[in-house]
Amino acid sequence: MPGANGRTTIIRGGTLIDGSGQSPVQNDAIVLDGDRIRSVGVLPPDVNAEDPESVRTIDASGKWIMPGLIDGHCHLSFGQPAMPGLNIARGTVSSEFSTIRAARNAQTVLRSGVTSVCVPGGTWFIDVAVREAINAGLIEGPRVYCAGRFIVTYGSIADNEPSWVGTPEHVNGKLCNNVTDMVTEVRRQCKHGVNFIKMADSTWGDIQTISREELTAVAEEAHRRNARITIHSRGADSTRAAAEAGFDWILHADLATESDLDAVAEAGVRIMPTLTFLEHAAEYGRDFGRSEREVDQMKYNLEGGARVLQRARELGLKVLSGTDSGNSPVMPYGELHANEPGIMVKYGGYTPLEAISACTRDNAFVVGLEDDVGVIEPGKLADMLLLTKDPVADISVLKGGRNLDLVIKAGKVVDRNGLRNAPDDPLRIVPDAC
Ligand SMILES: [Zn+2]
Repeated sequence: MPGANGRTTIIRGGTLIDGSGQSPVQNDAIVLDGDRIRSVGVLPPDVNAEDPESVRTIDASGKWIMPGLIDGHCHLSFGQPAMPGLNIARGTVSSEFSTIRAARNAQTVLRSGVTSVCVPGGTWFIDVAVREAINAGLIEGPRVYCAGRFIVTYGSIADNEPSWVGTPEHVNGKLCNNVTDMVTEVRRQCKHGVNFIKMADSTWGDIQTISREELTAVAEEAHRRNARITIHSRGADSTRAAAEAGFDWILHADLATESDLDAVAEAGVRIMPTLTFLEHAAEYGRDFGRSEREVDQMKYNLEGGARVLQRARELGLKVLSGTDSGNSPVMPYGELHANEPGIMVKYGGYTPLEAISACTRDNAFVVGLEDDVGVIEPGKLADMLLLTKDPVADISVLKGGRNLDLVIKAGKVVDRNGLRNAPDDPLRIVPDAC
């Protein structure tokens, strides 16, 4: 029996990695009705696989099926990475151009197998607009769950200009140096439709730039307005303080000590180490103008992040998967969104299945769809990938969409023609080594 929109799809055969953490199983039939999964396992008797009028069959034999990837940390509207003809490294100063470009970035992300993204901060309210345009079917892209500009104080990340310049609209941070300004900014951003609030402490975690009082006030205001809250926090003290202030998840946390992580675990807060950025920028950053000092700093934080990953696994802390793609010229779209699972295996001792669940089942939380995406089971949205190689045998199979056979979002096969990074693609700035 076809679904509400008259369309039933059957995925036959293949090996199913359902995202729940269970071992892969041989798939008989996954039935999709419209945008949702109707059944997984034996073909229901009322579905006539032989009727091409009402049923479309996708043959997955010899392939691997898994949930669509979720990148829990991807910036669509920073105006980054750099592109030919656009000699600006801090985002463009045109909201119109940045919006069109963000739409294009979203398309690139989806075509690499990422069916949902969490966007922790951008410029203007571009990400809200991109989300709405995707939901309305105007443009193609992943499901978007987004914040607005980061709420920052003097000395925080994204406060790069002298104080007399401040943080103009095209900057991804918004200076708020007292509780009143912060709460007002939360209200302004919620009015404009953000899904959550992002605060940001210091760039590398060497100083704490936001007080406990401020963290608590902003978390309370966000939650009062049904918005979640996260923070860029690399430092030990800021991580502990954010966990105790009721933040929903913490980005980075790489300098947290064991006792800080105990406090995070006690508070039941999730962390998203996002080591892909540190590893990738430490390796390729010099090619993009990063100084030796910065590269050394990244390596230092990467070592801390590796310890955090290992300790988090021991503690049973929920670890989410994000990459920071689009945060700077060194982080291209479409290439690194599935790099973090490999990082979890390499540095944290996670099994490939655990790492896959982090970027599917567990990441459903940071796109606000914990009941709807991340696992292939009846009732969930039909977001899934077909792969030509086994990601459990080799987690690097997921990287860069190189082994994708099909991307399905909401039951529809994504048209991947005009693939990213073709030689004439204006976004092709990816170093060959990526
Ligand atoms: Zn970021």
